[in-house]
Amino acid sequence: MPGLPGPGITAGAARRILLTMRRHTLLIDADDTLWENNVFFEKVIEDFITLTEPCGYPRAYIRHILNETERRNIRQHGYGVRSFGRSLEETYLKLAGEMSRHESLAQIHNRVVDLERTPPKILDGVPETLAYLTQRHRLILFTKGEPAEQAAKVERSGLQGFFEAIEIVPEKDPHTYRGLVNKHKIVKSHGWMVGNSPRSDINPAVLAGLNAVYIPHTNTWELEHEPVVSGSSKLVILSTFRELRSHF
Ligand SMILES: [Mg+2]
Repeated sequence: MPGLPGPGITAGAARRILLTMRRHTLLIDADDTLWENNVFFEKVIEDFITLTEPCGYPRAYIRHILNETERRNIRQHGYGVRSFGRSLEETYLKLAGEMSRHESLAQIHNRVVDLERTPPKILDGVPETLAYLTQRHRLILFTKGEPAEQAAKVERSGLQGFFEAIEIVPEKDPHTYRGLVNKHKIVKSHGWMVGNSPRSDINPAVLAGLNAVYIPHTNTWELEHEPVVSGSSKLVILSTFRELRSHF
């Protein structure tokens, strides 16, 4: 009979499905969306370049070699502070050659240890906006990186209570987005990825059929830059996290 649940579906289950359809699922990025991240890495990189410069290379060249080394190490060892520390050390040894000094290596190591201990600096308006969103929608934190390191950051941020699930993956690509859609039974037309990175948050989510909210951050890491694609999904561009309230 039209209007009644089909065979095998109880009225309660049908109501639950309807409720799920009505509200949205927001996958929310963490680094440089919920808290500052890249600005701390950039500070370490600036000091690293200053330390390496006396070996006789222009600053831009040192940065270029570091970026190349990072790309290679990310492919092999993934993201995270330790992978970054390895890239700094390798870049230093490559450029300094016979001029390499133990003290410089120790200095680099100490900066990386400090970086790992830096508490997350929550971005303006984030806790109150999450408090608002979590009452209306399903929130899932979706971040990439080294699992233990990212989990520790989430815990120290004090924001985990706003999320139904915390998902940490080695790389955010269309494949991992599709996996999340299946795992959490996300209705794509009501599914959104919210983040600062075109390469990791916006483009792969759109390719997987989700909608996206792009919140650019002035300090987004060079390796995350990419032109934004929109396809047939909805794409909203906001200047602050707080503005999510006007859309959800
Ligand atoms: Mg990010």
